[in-house]
Amino acid sequence: MLELRDVQVVFDGFRALDGVNLTVPEGELRFLIGPNGAGKTTLIDVITGLTKPAGGSVRFGGLDLVGRKEHQIVRLGVGRTFQTSVVFEELTVIENLDLAATFRQPLWSLARRRRGISEAVEQALTRTGLEDLAERSAGVLSHGQRQWLEIGMLLAQRPKLLLLDEPVAGMSKDERERTGELLTEIADDHTVIVVEHDMEFLRRHASTVTVLHEGKVLVEGSIDQVSADPRVQEVYLGR
Ligand code: ADP
Repeated sequence: MLELRDVQVVFDGFRALDGVNLTVPEGELRFLIGPNGAGKTTLIDVITGLTKPAGGSVRFGGLDLVGRKEHQIVRLGVGRTFQTSVVFEELTVIENLDLAATFRQPLWSLARRRRGISEAVEQALTRTGLEDLAERSAGVLSHGQRQWLEIGMLLAQRPKLLLLDEPVAGMSKDERERTGELLTEIADDHTVIVVEHDMEFLRRHASTVTVLHEGKVLVEGSIDQVSADPRVQEVYLGR
């Protein structure tokens, strides 16, 4: 589904990614961890077309993503969140979802759009559990609800692959739990890659974990294998 081979990213002579190989099969919920500066965000930037690699290949569903523009990659079914929120506070929850769904469409189809809520918006609303808040302004949402709205906005774009950068940062315990369940549900019919640091969250919700360190994949395996690995303890857990 997603396959990175020998990906290199260089910033002013500094190798942010140094030969990354990563395969994520369709329908997997994969967690990406690693200390600050390991290259996690850079890896997501490369997959989503924000950063062009100096070498290597990024293949998604059999297509090479390198050299494609960000909006083209969204249309191919790759959605991402950022660490900073992108929800429109002055719009309601449902308007945010509708906007996301609309902008995924080619322009010609906008003129033909029927009034009312599209199926994608309705599904995104139900899945994120925001039905009761549909008509509320996004500006009044709690931090957790905003994060769910942002995930909902991605879902409204009907992606195949979702890349989520620290979705539970700043959430309460209950919100984390709900997010863990949401991610597992989403992975039923999507491929999901989540950057996350919270070990307790990983122990509860992670199946396969990839550890990045100094621009390379250090270890990959179950959360138990990864956290027991002395190399991981040295670079990450033992910090
Ligand atoms: P992580 O997300 O794992 O914390 P990043 O991918 O953000 O790590 O960064 C990896 C390394 O690349 C860091 O040392 C960071 O300072 C560097 N880096 C990231 N983006 C840029 C950039 N645009 N210009 C220069 N260096 C960058």
